[in-house]
Amino acid sequence: MSHITGFKEFPRVLPPKVAPTERVRHYQEFIGMYSEAELNHQAARCMDCGIPFCHSGCPLGNIIPEFNDAVYQQDWQEAYRILASTNNFPEFTGRICPAPCESACVLSIHSQPVAIEEIEKHIIEIAFEKGFVQPTAPVLKTGQTVAVVGSGPAGLAAAAQLTKAGHTVTVFERDDRPGGLLRYGIPDFKLEKWVIDRRIELLEKDGIEFRCNTEVGKDISADELMNSFDAVVLAGGATIPRDLTIPGRDLKGIHFAMDYLNQQNKRVSQPDWVHEHEPVFATDQDVVVIGGGDTGSDCVGTANRQGARSVRQFAMMMEPPKERTKHMPWPTYPLLLSTTSSHEEGCERHWGVNTKAFLGDMQGNLRALLVTDITWETDERGKRIKFEEIAGSEREIPAQLAFLAIGYLHPRHDGLLTDLKVELDERGHVQATERDYRTNVDKVFVAGDARRGQSLVVWAISEGREAARQVDLFLTGKTALPSKDAVAMFA
Ligand SMILES: Cc1cc2nc3c(=O)[nH]c(=O)nc-3n(C[C@H](O)[C@H](O)[C@H](O)COP(=O)(O)OP(=O)(O)OC[C@H]3O[C@@H](n4cnc5c(N)ncnc54)[C@H](O)[C@@H]3O)c2cc1C
Ligand code: SF4
Repeated sequence: MSHITGFKEFPRVLPPKVAPTERVRHYQEFIGMYSEAELNHQAARCMDCGIPFCHSGCPLGNIIPEFNDAVYQQDWQEAYRILASTNNFPEFTGRICPAPCESACVLSIHSQPVAIEEIEKHIIEIAFEKGFVQPTAPVLKTGQTVAVVGSGPAGLAAAAQLTKAGHTVTVFERDDRPGGLLRYGIPDFKLEKWVIDRRIELLEKDGIEFRCNTEVGKDISADELMNSFDAVVLAGGATIPRDLTIPGRDLKGIHFAMDYLNQQNKRVSQPDWVHEHEPVFATDQDVVVIGGGDTGSDCVGTANRQGARSVRQFAMMMEPPKERTKHMPWPTYPLLLSTTSSHEEGCERHWGVNTKAFLGDMQGNLRALLVTDITWETDERGKRIKFEEIAGSEREIPAQLAFLAIGYLHPRHDGLLTDLKVELDERGHVQATERDYRTNVDKVFVAGDARRGQSLVVWAISEGREAARQVDLFLTGKTALPSKDAVAMFA
């Protein structure tokens, strides 16, 4: 801790953002960078706690006080070394992580947390600028081969770590480019795609082979995969969306959020992209997004950029509190009201609303949603048990477009998972423990959303790293790859 009174002297400040009226005119990122002095002051706020709770908040076990100190000292090489030792892709998490480390930061007990996520983004961008981020292809190869199925953050992290261990890795991706939801789920205004391309280029230089437009289970059979590789990591995500099967669901104008976001991401990155399905645009439409989470918020931001006439977002839960309650004490990750940058750009948010039916016109097009207000019965810990409609609150909300953003069920079962005969858990995800990431099928491992269910990029990276460690142990009987538990213990 280089600046003992930093946390008293400097308030938390975030980098400037382009104004909402300006940024809705494009799909680019709009959060700026700190000046040199601002970055120094933000790093100086870290108290180098005796027990740094930020560590336990971070699924990767990032060694946060140490990199904060290196930033304060302007020792960029050291800051990058510390950060890269636990996180393969800080350029992703530094942009889109909800930062559970900040919720756990000791400073947030009585003040604002250290701006850890922004500091992380600055470290990695400075490291790229200064040329510290280079391919790290190992000198010694083991001669063992590993297939990674899926190129989202879990698959990429597993591939990167296994390559470090000297194995020869092939990543299979059914989409046309690697990245998973980073590329075709999360909009460019949160994560521009050159950030992914820059990393993929490095991974290719490390020797990882990417086979895109290749669906395992269809273009390559499960048998062929098993016969060609010494180990397999399943990292195909959990992409089957939850549906809302209410009257009128088959009307035109009702779409799963991911179908909508996927189209726009492809349009942005590939101007000559040809639609496989009917194009969906929110231009001059009244839009309702059903679902109060991040995916819904991304639909809000996209609809505003396409020039929607009105954008509403409905959530069944009641409006979360702005401050922690007794049910969510520090340092747990609290469910607080979050106003995303997309909400700032224009959106009417409604809480405690149940959609009962979609109403159509004579041509079978959506014209309105039939909704009611609801109240929730909760248990003594504040957990929702059941809801009741408020009598007399039923009404129609005009809409020509509705996006369903109410979560994801599990990975696709038909094809690869069925052919491999992997066991599933009670929710339909691939069964494996958080200790060994190993499925019931010999030499087959699993990581990311396919195992834990739809989650966060930081968790996917963490699972990919931990699964790679288990694969290395399986292949060689030992491993030098780090585990997040060991990092937390010795940091
Ligand atoms: C719209 C949206 C916004 C989000 N925003 C955020 C955010 O802001 N911050 C955050 O932390 N998290 C966010 N998330 C969650 C995050 O993106 C996921 O938790 C994370 O991407 C999961 O990583 P993964 O590698 O497990 O799977 P995925 O990213 O889903 O990648 C799986 C890949 O496997 C491929 N695949 C599947 N089966 C096969 C097969 N048989 N053969 C070949 N390839 C296959 C798929 O095509 C896909 O590319 C968001 C999710 C969505 C949908
Ligand atoms: S908990 Fe916050 S103040 Fe303490 S070491 Fe971590 S980042 Fe610094």
